[in-house]
Amino acid sequence: MADHELRIVIAGAGIAGLAAALRLQRDGHRVLVVERAAERRTGGYLVNLLGPGFDAADALGLVPALRERDQGIFTSLLVRADGSTKTTMPAALAEQSLGSRALTVFRGDLEAVLFEALGGAAEVRFGTSVTAVTDGAAGPLQVTLSDGSEHEADLLIGADGLHSGVRELVFGPKAQYVRDLGHAVIAFPMEAAPEGLPEQTASTFIDVGRTAAVFRPRGGAPSAFFTYRTDETPRGPVEALAEHFGDLSGPVHEAARWSADTDDAYVDSVSQVVMDAWSRGRVVLLGDAAWCVSLFAGHGAGLALAGADRLGAALLDHPGELSDAAREWETGLREEVRTRQRQARAGMARFAPPSRFHVHVQDLMIRALTAPVVGGLLMRGLHRVTER
Ligand SMILES: Cc1cc2nc3c(=O)[nH]c(=O)nc-3n(C[C@H](O)[C@H](O)[C@H](O)COP(=O)(O)OP(=O)(O)OC[C@H]3O[C@@H](n4cnc5c(N)ncnc54)[C@H](O)[C@@H]3O)c2cc1C
Repeated sequence: MADHELRIVIAGAGIAGLAAALRLQRDGHRVLVVERAAERRTGGYLVNLLGPGFDAADALGLVPALRERDQGIFTSLLVRADGSTKTTMPAALAEQSLGSRALTVFRGDLEAVLFEALGGAAEVRFGTSVTAVTDGAAGPLQVTLSDGSEHEADLLIGADGLHSGVRELVFGPKAQYVRDLGHAVIAFPMEAAPEGLPEQTASTFIDVGRTAAVFRPRGGAPSAFFTYRTDETPRGPVEALAEHFGDLSGPVHEAARWSADTDDAYVDSVSQVVMDAWSRGRVVLLGDAAWCVSLFAGHGAGLALAGADRLGAALLDHPGELSDAAREWETGLREEVRTRQRQARAGMARFAPPSRFHVHVQDLMIRALTAPVVGGLLMRGLHRVTER
């Protein structure tokens, strides 16, 4: 518990913002969260919490509630464009390598668990953004919100994602920090399962410059995920999917068509955020706003949780010394973020292989993984590499 209570404003009620609110109010700080969206987001896409991501969820005490929403591990079908199966990777194989410290949850469920854990202990103001920040040398920060209210704060946390408004206000234009990786992503939940896709199974199509996948959890809502190489920001899911995946049949084709029926699609360019410093004065950036590693890394949610938890710890270690706390916190996270960003850039070829040859090599790798003995050894090796 902090003997030096801080007044903290957090922009963004996503994974990073809610995790920070939870940790910081538990530590005895006074927290206000502002979220641009009119209400809490639901659904989204499936997020894996492995290794350090699982550890961070554990440190925040979230694991029992997350276990109730765990979608488990999927049997993976690698399919051809006509929907027929090339290779089956049984769930048991992945389970063997991941062990019990792994969770697969919808992003919306992770946010719901954080929100419930917060239990009203901090105010979350929806439909609201930070519009101005004044950090004078003396006195507290002056934070102006879009609802016209003014707040004095000792710390402002920008946890408002890849396109962060706080970063823009305090650190400068997005173009200085956001690196476009030349791919688009479209992901959305579906209300009905595609025909022919068994429960607890994922159907994945990987081709030159593109991947499509549809997941059908046991008892839960199915979800679809598409990524493809492009220099353009996708206009809308329906047009983009028709253009890039219109030639497919089977479950992934059905998933692509479903996009017309959902207004809950996540559509964005795939990018990373690279910054020399994640804090300036009494403003700290957290999660994707500071270091987005991109979906190709598969650890962004875990890093958001860990970043929030460790920020709380650093503030306790340095009461009243914000710049020391920020320095210690940043030093502790830098190497992990750098590693994840590097892995993501290297891993892009897995999601959108550059040539037919790469697709073929990947097929061979996946077949090797499904072979008894070789597969077990490879999976354990791959797991160790991704956890490094
Ligand atoms: C398809 C896909 C799959 C992924 N899979 C994984 C995975 O398996 N494992 C993993 O660990 N990570 C995964 N990730 C990454 C992970 O989802 C992100 O890293 C994580 O959501 C980042 O959380 P955040 O809170 O920093 O940002 P966000 O989730 O972007 O949340 C930001 C919040 O701020 C709000 N906001 C935005 N602007 C403003 C503003 N101006 N004022 C106030 N509020 C604002 C937004 O509405 C949102 O609620 C995946 C990402 C994608 C797209």
